[in-house]
Amino acid sequence: MVDFSFTEEQDYFRKMLKGFAKEELLPNYTKWDREGITPKHLWRKLGELGVNGLRIPVEYGGSGADCVTTGIAAEEIGRGDFNLTYAVMLNGLIGEIITNHADEHLKKEWLPEIASGNKILGIAITEPEAGTDAGGIRSTAVRDGDSYVLNGEKSGISVAVSADAFIVFAKTEPRKGNRGISAFIVPSDLPGVEGKGYEDMGNIPIGRGSVYLNEVKVPADHLIGLEDKGFSQVMNGFDLSRLLIGLQCAGAALQSLDETIEHVKNRRSFGKPLATYQGVSFPLVTHYTKLDMLKWQAYRGLWLRDQGMEHSKESASVKWLGPLYSQEAIHECLLLNGHYAYTKEMPLEQRLRDVIGLEIGDGTAQANQMVIAKHLIGKEYRSYEPQVPAKSTNGQNYEGGYQYGID
Ligand SMILES: Cc1cc2nc3c(=O)[nH]c(=O)nc-3n(C[C@H](O)[C@H](O)[C@H](O)COP(=O)(O)OP(=O)(O)OC[C@H]3O[C@@H](n4cnc5c(N)ncnc54)[C@H](O)[C@@H]3O)c2cc1C
Repeated sequence: MVDFSFTEEQDYFRKMLKGFAKEELLPNYTKWDREGITPKHLWRKLGELGVNGLRIPVEYGGSGADCVTTGIAAEEIGRGDFNLTYAVMLNGLIGEIITNHADEHLKKEWLPEIASGNKILGIAITEPEAGTDAGGIRSTAVRDGDSYVLNGEKSGISVAVSADAFIVFAKTEPRKGNRGISAFIVPSDLPGVEGKGYEDMGNIPIGRGSVYLNEVKVPADHLIGLEDKGFSQVMNGFDLSRLLIGLQCAGAALQSLDETIEHVKNRRSFGKPLATYQGVSFPLVTHYTKLDMLKWQAYRGLWLRDQGMEHSKESASVKWLGPLYSQEAIHECLLLNGHYAYTKEMPLEQRLRDVIGLEIGDGTAQANQMVIAKHLIGKEYRSYEPQVPAKSTNGQNYEGGYQYGID
């Protein structure tokens, strides 16, 4: 049997978020960009609406919802405020990581705070010398009694300046390649942790930047997963974030299409509405069709994840094409709105800047194509150095490798 319908509960959730996005997020979307601030009150508001805790179990303050429902949140929030979709994606990803791999005391400490929106957590993998090739990170974590001492520089990190803590990846055994990487929860108020923001092109309210770790003493029980195995265990979460990213971008693009359809029905040239010209309607149809197909691939990937079935290549396809199709659609919408859309009076220029960021963040097109190639053609034909295989605690095999395309 194939059933493409959402449940009644999911339809209700979508309707509620659609209204919220339209009434409360959309009118202020450009405000946070202009003012350059992270609207923490809206992260808390998302907590009240149950959005932050979707992938967090009920006993830790979440709703324990499935991945498909989390995808609905990413899409609908994306229509109102693309930058707030980071709350859906980061909290989904980090909520799963802590739930599946952290000690009980860390779950009790952090999960209710994430679910409520009181605390914001980031994930710190990338370094100046290691992005796509995440196995090449150089940050170290050296055991010293009942602590680890962390040193290194993380770069390009979302919420670098506003996070209360980071999931940090560092080498506990530098000679073992990816197998020597471990993950830790590192509170940002520990001595030696410093975040420094960038002047980014988009995603301004996310406050991306570098996180410096200078002799940071982290309690040993802040290790997530097993020592030396953090990479292979924890990276499984990126199969979720990639699917959510596709939907958050599609939400922003579909909102742009809706706005542009209204515009071309009303705006006239040569005595007729713009919508009557196929030179105008066909591009809109083309972008809508691509986004609709992308969305269904994303929901299929989320459904596969909910069933515990393999979904890495579906996830990679959505991460590759989602931001790409979306920025192409938004660009077209901007052009169809004419010169006025080139001003900051309209949200289109910001949506374009914002969505382009996620063509890079969480793995580039090539990184995701590598994942698909491995599944389609075979891992023996990959061009990069194979790493030592490791088995994750949840039974899925990841052999280490490049960023977010873990092979
Ligand atoms: C908006 C945004 C948010 C981000 N948030 C986070 C975050 O929260 N946490 C975090 O850890 N990181 C984050 N990043 C960093 C991001 O994950 C990396 O930028 C990304 O993985 C690429 O790494 P790089 O920038 O070092 O590029 P590189 O790895 O140097 O790649 C440069 C180019 O070369 C290509 N390339 C690399 N290797 C190959 C190959 N073998 N074959 C073909 N092409 C190749 C890449 O596709 C890319 O086009 C974020 C980045 C952005 C833009």
